[in-house]
Amino acid sequence: MTPSRLRTISNDIVHERNVKPFRTLSLIIPFYNERSSLPLLLGEIERLARRLQSRQIDVEAVLVDDGSTDGGGQAIAAWVAAQARPFETRVLRLSRNFGKELALSAGLEAADADAVVLLDADLQHPVELIDTFVEAWLGEGVDVVYAYREDSAREPLGKRVLRSAFYRLVNGASGGTLHPSAGDFRLMSRRACEALKRFPERERLMKGLYGLIGFPTKGVPYAPAPRAAGTSKFPTLKLWAAGLNGVTAFSVFPLRLTLLMGLALGLLSFVYGVWTVIEKLAFGIHVPGYPTLVVIISMVGAGQLIGMGIVGEYVGKVLVEVKQRPLYILESDERLASAAAPSQDRSLTA
Ligand code: UDP
Ligand code: MG
Repeated sequence: MTPSRLRTISNDIVHERNVKPFRTLSLIIPFYNERSSLPLLLGEIERLARRLQSRQIDVEAVLVDDGSTDGGGQAIAAWVAAQARPFETRVLRLSRNFGKELALSAGLEAADADAVVLLDADLQHPVELIDTFVEAWLGEGVDVVYAYREDSAREPLGKRVLRSAFYRLVNGASGGTLHPSAGDFRLMSRRACEALKRFPERERLMKGLYGLIGFPTKGVPYAPAPRAAGTSKFPTLKLWAAGLNGVTAFSVFPLRLTLLMGLALGLLSFVYGVWTVIEKLAFGIHVPGYPTLVVIISMVGAGQLIGMGIVGEYVGKVLVEVKQRPLYILESDERLASAAAPSQDRSLTA
């Protein structure tokens, strides 16, 4: 019998007895070479699961191994085997490194809980904030509770300007509901999660898609902790590439910008042309041709190349979509058994 069937039956029973039904919460945690952080994270989740158990909520950790090469999967198995945990642990292993966005998609596809929380493995996302998420989800009936960084004002100016430009572009294409300092750390109800899963694109920017699904939403501030261990998987260059990819995957503004630039350049050359005629006819000034020509030709050439490059980015994206390749490839999907059974009677076999 599947866990969801068991849940339905137990909920029917508690309904008859007029007590609060059990709910399930899946924590979706993509990780890539986070061996040292994972045991600390699982310890935090254990404490969270105990707290939430008193509110009739079962916690499941869905750890998505994004092709780690440091044996993180084995570290989880060893940790789980040694604990009497109050939460289920499931490890999805992708066949190689597909990137965080796709690892998140794999986790979302696998989870069937009443709500999911997307969480980083390096403990930069404080696990205690999930209690606040749950409060808003169950207490206020909110479908999406996202965390936004309240320390972003302390970022270097350059990074802040880039971040704001990125969000402005993506926000324009996703209904204008995104918070500039919010990331993936969020809770989504079952229906919000199902809505998100309906977006089929290969080139996906999760931060943009969150804005498209709608539903009652609430933001909660948080201060990210320093990394528990290891280094960031997004160095500046990769961040730039991801930002550019994200913008072209989501917004057609760069295409519109090339059109506007072309129009502006056309207008400028028309005005300049008229001006040279006036100069010649009215003032008899001889316009020196060579430097003007060189400047104009190189300007127009550069403009055309930029335009072609931007169009090329979009054509490339269309090609990727048309191919309909699988988003990710799953190598294994394991439910890990612990030393002692959890307090409630729940099946481990799907
Ligand atoms: N991550 C992943 N696949 C990748 C890169 C990162 O699953 O290819 C995970 C990583 O292990 C972490 C989360 O995504 O759990 C966020 O990554 P990181 O902490 O390096 O990003 P930062 O916090 O520096 O933006
Ligand atoms: Mg991090």
